[in-house]
Amino acid sequence: MLPDRKMCASRTRPPHRSGFDPLPVVIIGNGPSGICLSYLLSGYIPYFRRDSIHPHPILQRKLEEAPGVSILDQSIEGSMVTLSRGEWMGLPDLPFKDWLKQKRRGLRNNRATAEDIAQYYQHYVMKKGLQKNFKCGTVVTSVRKVSAENVSNHEQKGLQVNSDSLWNFNEKSAEVFQVDGFFKTVRGDKEPFSLYAESVVLATGTYDSPTWLGVKGENLSYIHHQLSALEEAVKNNCIGITSDPVLIVGAGLTAADAILFAHHCNIPVIHVFRRRVSDPGLIFNQLPKMMYPEYHKVHQMMKEQTAACAGPYECYVSLPEHHVLSFGKDKKCIFQDKNGCQKVYKISMALVLTGSNPNLSFLPNNGIDLAMDNGQPVNPKRNPIDVDPFTYECTQEKGLYALGPLAGDNFVRFVQGGALAVASSLLKKANKNPP
Ligand SMILES: Cc1cc2nc3c(=O)[nH]c(=O)nc-3n(C[C@H](O)[C@H](O)[C@H](O)COP(=O)(O)OP(=O)(O)OC[C@H]3O[C@@H](n4cnc5c(N)ncnc54)[C@H](O)[C@@H]3O)c2cc1C
Repeated sequence: MLPDRKMCASRTRPPHRSGFDPLPVVIIGNGPSGICLSYLLSGYIPYFRRDSIHPHPILQRKLEEAPGVSILDQSIEGSMVTLSRGEWMGLPDLPFKDWLKQKRRGLRNNRATAEDIAQYYQHYVMKKGLQKNFKCGTVVTSVRKVSAENVSNHEQKGLQVNSDSLWNFNEKSAEVFQVDGFFKTVRGDKEPFSLYAESVVLATGTYDSPTWLGVKGENLSYIHHQLSALEEAVKNNCIGITSDPVLIVGAGLTAADAILFAHHCNIPVIHVFRRRVSDPGLIFNQLPKMMYPEYHKVHQMMKEQTAACAGPYECYVSLPEHHVLSFGKDKKCIFQDKNGCQKVYKISMALVLTGSNPNLSFLPNNGIDLAMDNGQPVNPKRNPIDVDPFTYECTQEKGLYALGPLAGDNFVRFVQGGALAVASSLLKKANKNPP
């Protein structure tokens, strides 16, 4: 994603530039983090509205102190990540509920479908005029810091913005980022590109590499790591009521969604997970029952329909405190319980839904050097990228920023605070020496 020039037009005059011109910033990722930052870099400047009340009293007092100063220009210590608006999935200045109303649709139990959310984000980009900042079908395969001198004669191709960029480049950096990748053409070809940027924002989320169990046979073709594989199999009539059961491994919400989907299609399910059903760490034990009745139902099934004790739910068997030992070519898989007892089941397909990890293979050492614990892979919950809390700039790599779950902000409502921090930092850098 490329930055818009409008915002800087309102803040600086264009300097004359010639020769090697790196882009001011490249944002990698088109989810809520990337969209929100693109919005803030496109001339939409947030101010505190006098009639609004922030739930955090200290932050409210701080905001009231300088209502005429843009929030981008304020230094609100310690509160950056709490600036998000009330709605969970909404982005700035277009409440999700208003968009739903326009669509003549409502929320169910105050919740939205994934499809609605995806459509809302697409609509948001159009409505706010951000499309020109997005380069769809682009995959970044490498980001490396290089000396600006070595690339001074390089001409940016493909992704370059107009040469009369209004970002202020009075001060040239000694080092820039080289960003390589490819565009996917309509015919399915890969067209390579290479460009240079002063700053790079990692907004690539954490869902690109599903977790594997690491057991024998997991690479066999009937083992899948995404829920969509089950939907596809049902759609193509590869699986049905009379098939051998589908194995679902995991006890998170994605596994629950898979169980609900299979249940809805009357497809038999064997459900294997490591924890006890009463384990307080299990997500079902943390969700309010009233708001999430369907997940509560899955939890009930997990409790009441074990292999040892048949319950009221047909086509479902729960195996708590079990793990998979191996998958066979004959579609027989072996499970083991906490006492070492083994069971063999013949299945039609397996869905391993035990979480996902970011794919940072485009960074040196898979981005491990950027993590809080730089001996372990980046993980949104246990080991996010180490960022400065006021700028979201990586502490280990100046000019590189991380947003969203990569920086430990695991909900959309926290993404806006991070985007605000990055936008503020980038603009301060760009306007350091006004002409
Ligand atoms: C099943 C599920 C339910 C959820 N429910 C909620 C909820 O109710 N409330 C809530 O607040 N949050 C929820 N979340 C979390 C929410 O989806 C994330 O917080 C949010 O999507 C993070 O936004 P992001 O922009 O940082 O990353 P993402 O939304 O993951 O977007 C990153 C994008 O970057 C792309 N990308 C990755 N690598 C590259 C590359 N090398 N080159 C180019 N593009 C790349 C990815 O393909 C992706 O499109 C849920 C998540 C899941 C999986």
